[in-house]
Amino acid sequence: MSVKISTTNSKLGLIPSVNLTPIVTCRKNCPCAKDCYARKGNFRFQNVKDSLAHNLQEYVENPTQYFADIKHAINNGMVSYSYFRWHAAGDFVDEAYFAGVVKVALDLPNTSFLAFTKKFELVNEYLQNGGVIPKNLHIVFSAWGDEFHIENPYNFPVAYVRFHDSENKSIPETAVECSGDCTNCLQCWNIRNGESVVFNKH
Ligand code: SF4
Ligand code: SF4
Repeated sequence: MSVKISTTNSKLGLIPSVNLTPIVTCRKNCPCAKDCYARKGNFRFQNVKDSLAHNLQEYVENPTQYFADIKHAINNGMVSYSYFRWHAAGDFVDEAYFAGVVKVALDLPNTSFLAFTKKFELVNEYLQNGGVIPKNLHIVFSAWGDEFHIENPYNFPVAYVRFHDSENKSIPETAVECSGDCTNCLQCWNIRNGESVVFNKH
């Protein structure tokens, strides 16, 4: 069976995404695990959970085929998507996975890719080791509250979450507000180093 691509995420609208099981693919001791949005709403349905687990299994069993399936879904001669989102649920699994994400962007230069991540070290180490992130792959580091430290020596753009029951001192005044409608917004696909976006916590 091939990788399951989601085209039904209400926030993403027409933009397809690939999703993985949260928590197990996320950083250890993720500060957001207890409140993970990828375990709420539609993500609670068993068929959705099964599809995320299926994708993770596809990657673990055959990473080459996993990325080939994703490339085929994005551009196959019949359809060609201009935008793609990695992981509305889950995160980069490991270093090899991140290298695969980079390769997909290089192979599909007419598609603009977006990934939020809390696996900062994985991305930082890739750059420290001489890796180059293609211009059509947009990485945004994800914040979580004032206490969670973001290791960001390369000045990646940052996504903040506004809590309603505590202070949000770390959110810059210049952070752009999320409209909740990616298809008609695309801010995060165009965000630059040093810039930031803020989401209201679900
Ligand atoms: S990083 Fe995202 S998917 Fe992972 S636990 Fe946190 S909110 Fe959930
Ligand atoms: S700021 Fe715009 S592009 Fe970014 S997540 Fe929100 S709606 Fe989507």
